[in-house]
Amino acid sequence: MALMPYEEALKIVLENINPLPSERVLLWQALGRFLAEEVRSDADKPPFDNSAMDGYAVRAEDLQGEGVKLRLLGEVSAGGEVGLRVERGTAVRIFTGAPIPEGADTVVPLEFTRQEGEYILVEKPLKKGANIRLRGEELKEGELILKRGTPIRGYEIGIMASVNKVSLSVYQKPRVAVLSTGDEVKDVGENIEKPSQIRSSNNHALYARALEVGCEVVHLGIVGDNPEDIQRLLKDVERYDVFLTTGGVSVGEKDYVQRLVGEMGFELLFHKLRIKPAKPVLFARKGKTLLFGLPGNPVSCLMAFDLLVKPALFRMQGVEECEPPVYRAQLVRDFSRRDAERREFVRAKFWEEGGRLYCDYSPKTQSHMLTSYVGANCYLVVYEGIKELKAGQEVELIPFQWQALEPYNCPFPFHVTLPKLIAFLGVKPIEKVLHVITLHKKAPPLKKATYNKTCKGYCVKSVVVFARYPRVEQKK
Ligand code: AMP
Ligand code: MG
Repeated sequence: MALMPYEEALKIVLENINPLPSERVLLWQALGRFLAEEVRSDADKPPFDNSAMDGYAVRAEDLQGEGVKLRLLGEVSAGGEVGLRVERGTAVRIFTGAPIPEGADTVVPLEFTRQEGEYILVEKPLKKGANIRLRGEELKEGELILKRGTPIRGYEIGIMASVNKVSLSVYQKPRVAVLSTGDEVKDVGENIEKPSQIRSSNNHALYARALEVGCEVVHLGIVGDNPEDIQRLLKDVERYDVFLTTGGVSVGEKDYVQRLVGEMGFELLFHKLRIKPAKPVLFARKGKTLLFGLPGNPVSCLMAFDLLVKPALFRMQGVEECEPPVYRAQLVRDFSRRDAERREFVRAKFWEEGGRLYCDYSPKTQSHMLTSYVGANCYLVVYEGIKELKAGQEVELIPFQWQALEPYNCPFPFHVTLPKLIAFLGVKPIEKVLHVITLHKKAPPLKKATYNKTCKGYCVKSVVVFARYPRVEQKK
């Protein structure tokens, strides 16, 4: 039977995905998540006409001709009151960010002026409107800033703070389970008892990769190649959005994953692709849960994750453009292979030099050689039917990172003083703070909150929250 091409497999994967429901989080908890709502400006930005420079607010009209001399009326600083009016022949000292006083239409930078007693001399002509940031020139009130599905980086955190977005809707994190199988695999730290045993890397690599793309991940450990153990763990598969197994999907007698998928009521969507490595990869579905049976070879496992699972995890978090992009670069070394039947994805590195992208590949091309990832940042794509690639030739590659971020799912503790929190959330009685912090009702209590009890018996001074909301456990 002809093997299924990669594109078709990816299409099947993505067709089987609906974005997860959303949940509300506080701004500080939103790092590395994906927006499930639109963010609009709460006001015109800037909110008022203000100075872009330290200098003098003047009337452009007064700057005509030689030897311009203006009488200084006073000053206005950032955050200060205006109360002054620039009349003909006068100026007001102004600082960056300060509101433009009435009557003024231009700011002369300090370095273009000289002060003489209560007068300033302007030494350079300026256009009307120079050095003034106009109200609404960046954003109008209600203007769309961030679309649904936008990954939230530090930049977006700043942008949302600037429009007073205290809490927001993000897509729930996909719940991912990782299970490794194999009689020979021993976990990190376990004793190797027989020379035929090997160290398990797949479960840890997948756990970390899933975290890197914004998921909540559960280690289910390692089970031997025995159907009872695998079956026991697969029974709970519907507790997760995505269930990842490694090993046991080839055609060996001890490859039970495929058999169990058939026996346990999964819908098998594909098994075996025309790709190298990771040919035996399997994709199945039970209810809402997607199961990826990834091959045991460490490179196959990670490559199948990057090219099939990662797009799925992004799509679940509302990302529209979640298919791997293709970059073009110039290969710097010949590549050849004997068998050109499958599309091969070779660990490689690309870089920019003199306005061009170049690509070199790891000499460790085989699927058990995990260290082929050292220094790699892309997969060199060797298409079906191609046996040789020549140095100097243009090649295609898929970068490891293609979303604006691979959100790094670190716990992101935030520290906020109580008065600030109250001001943000508009609550007065201090007793309500705990309620406010556990903002979304579905969430279990926060992991840790510390309170400083000071004056008057019960005055919470600061609240430290380790921002991590585990998803609500589904009933077994
Ligand atoms: P399998 O897919 O079970 O046929 O395994 C293919 C190869 O991957 C074998 O050489 C296994 O020893 C190896 N392998 C299986 N599981 C793991 C694992 N968790 N970590 C590292 N290598 C593994
Ligand atoms: Mg095996």
